[in-house]
Amino acid sequence: MVQRVCVIGGGSSGLTSIKSCLEEGLEPICFESSDDIGGLWRFKENLEAERASIYSSVIINTSKEMMCFSDYPIPAHFPNYMHNSLIMDYFRMYAENYHLTKHIRLQVKPRPDFSQSGQWDVETENRKGEKERHVFDAVMICVGHHCHPNLPLHDFPGIDTFEGQYIHSRDYKTAEDWKGKRVVVIGIGNSGGDIAVELSRVSKQVFLSTRRGAWIMNRVGEHGMPTDMVFNRWIASFLHQQKRFGTCCVCPRLFSQHPTVNDELPNRILSGTVRIKPNIRRLQGTSVEFDDGTVEDNIDLVVFATGYNISFPFLPPHVLALSKNKATLYKYVFPPGLEHPTLAVIGLVQPLGAIMPISELQARWVTRVFKGVTKLPSKDNMLKDIKQKEDSMAKRYVTSQRHTIQVNYIEYMDEIADQVGVRPNLLWLLLTEPGLGLRVLLGPCTPYQYRLRGPGQWDGARQAILTQWDRVAQPLRTRPSEISEHKQRSLPLALTLGAATLALGYYWAMQNHPSLLNDLDPSPLLDKIKPYLAVRW
Ligand code: NAP
Repeated sequence: MVQRVCVIGGGSSGLTSIKSCLEEGLEPICFESSDDIGGLWRFKENLEAERASIYSSVIINTSKEMMCFSDYPIPAHFPNYMHNSLIMDYFRMYAENYHLTKHIRLQVKPRPDFSQSGQWDVETENRKGEKERHVFDAVMICVGHHCHPNLPLHDFPGIDTFEGQYIHSRDYKTAEDWKGKRVVVIGIGNSGGDIAVELSRVSKQVFLSTRRGAWIMNRVGEHGMPTDMVFNRWIASFLHQQKRFGTCCVCPRLFSQHPTVNDELPNRILSGTVRIKPNIRRLQGTSVEFDDGTVEDNIDLVVFATGYNISFPFLPPHVLALSKNKATLYKYVFPPGLEHPTLAVIGLVQPLGAIMPISELQARWVTRVFKGVTKLPSKDNMLKDIKQKEDSMAKRYVTSQRHTIQVNYIEYMDEIADQVGVRPNLLWLLLTEPGLGLRVLLGPCTPYQYRLRGPGQWDGARQAILTQWDRVAQPLRTRPSEISEHKQRSLPLALTLGAATLALGYYWAMQNHPSLLNDLDPSPLLDKIKPYLAVRW
């Protein structure tokens, strides 16, 4: 029987894993290699080996109501998109509120000979080099996937002759040192976009090199609201308004790439402070030649914003094999080959949305599997599920090592929620409390929805859903606004009337023109757009 659980990593996934262990009556011990909690979100001036590193200006690109843990809303007065320092404040509040820190051992890391003999033998080493052996019944790996930079120097002929400086985006901290310089940024993911914009404010010129272009999304949506909260209402205009920047002729379909979120980048490109370039053909001295034959001289800095390699150096390959950034994991969590399901990876997904609520739900599932109250399917069925997911992602995304762990937010959350038994029962909600039901059905899919029922049910979930827009509005208010309060009050009525009209229309059409409905079956369209929605419909 599982009792003692080793949690590796004290970032957001580690914190919520400790909490889930405690809720299920397990005994977690968390080993965190650095001197503080927070993982990736804790900014440090200096790089630390084997750890994620962020630049000082990073602001998260998912809004607070969409990224919070499901039973702990982010304070109403916090901005909707938080700077990394505020994210740390939130994590500290969460850790304090649930008394998590006493289960964390700082500056201790597991050493490579991490082996299983029924239970897990874990050897740890602290910063003084002192080793300790522990035996655990189960292990949760919560180290993230942004620790090991992908630096594909072999793809860049002549990089060895380059006389300027080159760095990976993980090494980048601020723009200060690059005042008046000429810079090339490679890669148009979120790091490349952020860094190009920031450097363009101080440097002489930034060139942003991309081998296939990108779709750029804004944080700010209609009426100044967070895009991820208003996705449903604006899906159509969103699809039409996307701006595409890139010079290559192979144009990926919308959403066939992980989207780049950056409100400023289009502006910088239009004003020429960031100039878009295709892939680099070669470098020589201080010159960079691009695939279109153009050459830029006197380049001082090249930033490789080329992403990360997934790696768990402390895990032997027979436990979890990795190849080309792919890990064979059932629902991205459990290695299917183990005799007992006592090892799980938390947070190894890249959603079109926030990762924290996903890690939390995974941890709730995993701890119930550890406890034995939830069972996993047979190895064959797990492998089939893994293959199915791989195939569907391969169909949708362009082949790239950055697209090996993509998940659709709602689809995946619902899938894991089914395992735990906490998927919201929409019909029941609509019948018993239509205002709440309609918000769950048509409103943003905020994490509180997964606390309305089942194991881990939270009494505050209903109220958190009813007040989610108040918390969005709070940091934007300078005075009480009658209009917005009126809108808030009239929202359930508007939603109810809208749903009633749809239902009546459907009933009328069923009675009078059943064939019309067959012809107008919306399900294929709904199936197509569902993965992209931040709402259920
Ligand atoms: P990423 O999403 O993996 O993007 C890497 C970029 O580098 C892609 O444009 C990729 O192009 C390009 N690239 C990779 N190898 C290349 C090569 N050999 N030659 C040319 N181009 C190459 O990495 P990231 O931008 O560092 O983001 C990592 C994660 O952190 C993502 O989940 C991201 O959303 C997150 N992030 C979030 C924020 C924020 O919240 N503000 C900021 C930064 C990062 P292809 O598409 O062609 O492969």
